[in-house]
Amino acid sequence: MWMTTFARFGLPALQRSASAMACRTLTAACHRPQPASLAALPSRRTSPQHRGQHTLGSASIPMAHHSVRHVRALDEERMMEVEWECGGHSLYPFTWLRDNCQCPLCTLQSAQARTLLLCDLDIHTGVDVVEVTNDNKVSIVWPDQHISVFDADWLKKRCFSPAARRAMQEELFLNEHHYWDSKLHIPTADYQEVLHDDKAALAWLLALRRVGIVYLKGAPAVQGQVARLAERIGYLRLTFYGHTWQVQDKPMANNVAYTSEKLSLHTDYPALQFAPGVQFLHCINQAATGGESEVVDGFHMAELLRREDPEAFQALASLRVDFTDTGTDYCDFMLQSKKCIIDVDENGRVVRINLNNATRDSVLDLPLHQVQPFYRGLKAFYDIMNQPDNVVAYSMQPGDIVTFDNWRLLHGRRSYTSSPDRLRHLEGAYLDWDEVMSRLRILRSAVQAGM
Ligand SMILES: [Zn+2]
Repeated sequence: MWMTTFARFGLPALQRSASAMACRTLTAACHRPQPASLAALPSRRTSPQHRGQHTLGSASIPMAHHSVRHVRALDEERMMEVEWECGGHSLYPFTWLRDNCQCPLCTLQSAQARTLLLCDLDIHTGVDVVEVTNDNKVSIVWPDQHISVFDADWLKKRCFSPAARRAMQEELFLNEHHYWDSKLHIPTADYQEVLHDDKAALAWLLALRRVGIVYLKGAPAVQGQVARLAERIGYLRLTFYGHTWQVQDKPMANNVAYTSEKLSLHTDYPALQFAPGVQFLHCINQAATGGESEVVDGFHMAELLRREDPEAFQALASLRVDFTDTGTDYCDFMLQSKKCIIDVDENGRVVRINLNNATRDSVLDLPLHQVQPFYRGLKAFYDIMNQPDNVVAYSMQPGDIVTFDNWRLLHGRRSYTSSPDRLRHLEGAYLDWDEVMSRLRILRSAVQAGM
């Protein structure tokens, strides 16, 4: 079931090739951490984000080589029109073409970076000649006789049509998320395979991006594994809690996580202006009783809130509240930040959840009349995410590592009792999405090149 869904939602850019292999790698190690509460991914699409995914999927499959049938300059519009052999036209503004000349004078080849200076860019330029070369490239002679030559595939990928731009953005950022509820069967992979096999690592990161959570099994139950996993990607994110941090019941705890109490659903570290994007938690030792983990899909919950209680959603997406965190760990700290509980982008798409009840500040920088609407919104959101239908619970065992999207998921823990020989111990680490997506793109290129 996961495999079917994975094929459908997982990998537009690799849909017909690497995805199947990547999929097998993931499903081979599939398990149910807690069979009673976990079932297959819901087959019904629960998100409007999934509409049109076939178009996006097919549009971002590695493109067959494109041939140019004809080019012409539209001097009045100051655009070049390309007519493709496969049908269709693309338009490219002269200014953009001149700005993106790929010649060694305008581009530092070793860095693939622009060296053309803005002071040398004439944003009102015309062209002297546009033509198709013998090897099916597009050549432009500019009025100063500088010559630019553009590869047909390169141009095709940068077409300005809305569909092409959408496909390119999806290929770059993989922003199509697969929403889930309590029926999620958490995608699972083998820790060693992820460390040593590129296809397994790619499948892991794709699922981390699309689903938001991936379980890795088979890590040694000793400290240092989250750091190894971070090195597989690049480097981890240092915070005031250290390079990695030990989740244990500690005397005089400097964080509510370092107790044996229940932790309600939260995202980590909203007290930072730029909260960590990805979190790893490695179980080194589990408690004698209790200590089960809980997760919900924050993006899905926010969309449910938007649908069921638009006023509450609007309050959480527009009112910025204060977060604070003070103490000593890696060094001493006194953090303050201001965040909306739900971050939306310019298109209204939910892009980040910032919610940690422990570090939400008593300082509340809102006018009096907005205080009660804020609490009402917060409570409505909390009620939705705590419905049993929405929560996935699992019990980590020594050697398990859970990797998840900290901008999207809310996670919690049930209270626990440790016995002297069963002291609960998790090691955690943070990464940022920039580094994770960078590794994902590199792995995708490598896997595609090896096909
Ligand atoms: Zn040039």
